[in-house]
Amino acid sequence: MNKYRDFENYIKEYPTRDGRFGPYGGAYLPPELVPAFEEIDEAYRTICHSAQFISELRRIRKEFQGRPTPVYHCARLSNLLGKTQIYLKREDLNHSGAHKLNHCMGEGLLAQFMGKKKLIAETGAGQHGVALATAAAYFGLECDIYMGEVDIAKQAPNVSRMKILGARVIPVSHGLKTLKEAVDAAFEGYLKEYKDAIYCIGSAVGPHPFPLMVRDFQYVVGEEARAQFKEMTGLLPDAITACVGGGSNSIGFFLPFIADPVEIYGVEPMGRGSGVGDNAATITFGKTGILHGFESLLLQDDKGEPLPVYSVASGLDYPAVGPEHAFLHDCGRIKYDCVTDEDAIEAFFLLSRYEGIIPAVESAHAVAYAIKVALENRHDSILANLSGRGDKDMDYVIEHYGYGDQYLEKYAK
Ligand SMILES: *Cc1c(COP(=O)(O)O)cnc(C)c1O
Repeated sequence: MNKYRDFENYIKEYPTRDGRFGPYGGAYLPPELVPAFEEIDEAYRTICHSAQFISELRRIRKEFQGRPTPVYHCARLSNLLGKTQIYLKREDLNHSGAHKLNHCMGEGLLAQFMGKKKLIAETGAGQHGVALATAAAYFGLECDIYMGEVDIAKQAPNVSRMKILGARVIPVSHGLKTLKEAVDAAFEGYLKEYKDAIYCIGSAVGPHPFPLMVRDFQYVVGEEARAQFKEMTGLLPDAITACVGGGSNSIGFFLPFIADPVEIYGVEPMGRGSGVGDNAATITFGKTGILHGFESLLLQDDKGEPLPVYSVASGLDYPAVGPEHAFLHDCGRIKYDCVTDEDAIEAFFLLSRYEGIIPAVESAHAVAYAIKVALENRHDSILANLSGRGDKDMDYVIEHYGYGDQYLEKYAK
């Protein structure tokens, strides 16, 4: 049995017609919302084969987003650590600074093809809200972003960005006033307006067809990276890695390598440690359950209520994970491992000082894993997906960790 060749038809076979990845996925919706999601499913099914849709998306990626993003060899960092050669796929150079625009532009184009006038979403830290507001401005669509009042107070620069881009930021003032309440409010808003609006999810999560659509829109990341790496080195990388929050940058990066002899590592945030509420390592600690309309691994209590989650990277602190990751973990094709806040922050400073690239703290988790592989000399080469840039994190990092000299001392020769 060849463990890689077993996956040659994987992408055609999964998800099934009803949105299942093995036992995970599906669509668990209030009856009133079923027609709205069926409409999206049908539209996507038709449009994804349309030559016009495909060529328009290709043009947008090239002319507006600046794709393809490069693959970069971290020569100085690799040399510092040992023999393993570390490479990065530079999604931080995508317009608006992260991979999220890949699926937001796809969702915006779908909305335009469906004749919708408005994009609706929730946002936590504001990254998804900004990417979607960017897409809405590009397509000339209205944009309603639901955001908890606590998050609005914490994420002022992203709130300003969304407003400058013309989005309406709708404060959510019930419950804990954060992401979970914002999701509920966005669903309620969508229910009232679904004839004219489309709901746009922020990751490879949610009810079918979102995990499928988002992975398809992110697939370009791994597809480009695979060809670029081969052109640079004549080979495939021995291993690849990406951070896993909901799982969008990672699934798009991983799948083009699924049938290759390449080790794949998904990296979850271990935060402050393994205690309840100290991390967001859903695959590592989670159990099967249903949240926000889909079945997957979840961090939940005995009653099935989501547990509190934490990570220094707010883009990774979600108590569920995309259903496809839960499935590929069970299949044993992808290995999932964890990186702590401390290791991610160390990687943030190492990449900044040795390569002149300031990563998003989310992406720093993938870099930290590549560093770990290099220090253990486990593979000859590893390609990490640098999902976004770190400008948004600088104030927070400086306040809590200074300029990082304490992390660099142990590497100084
Ligand atoms: C949102 C975000 C993530 C996490 O989301 P995924 O859906 O797991 O990819 C990772 N990196 C950056 C830069 C982000 O903004």
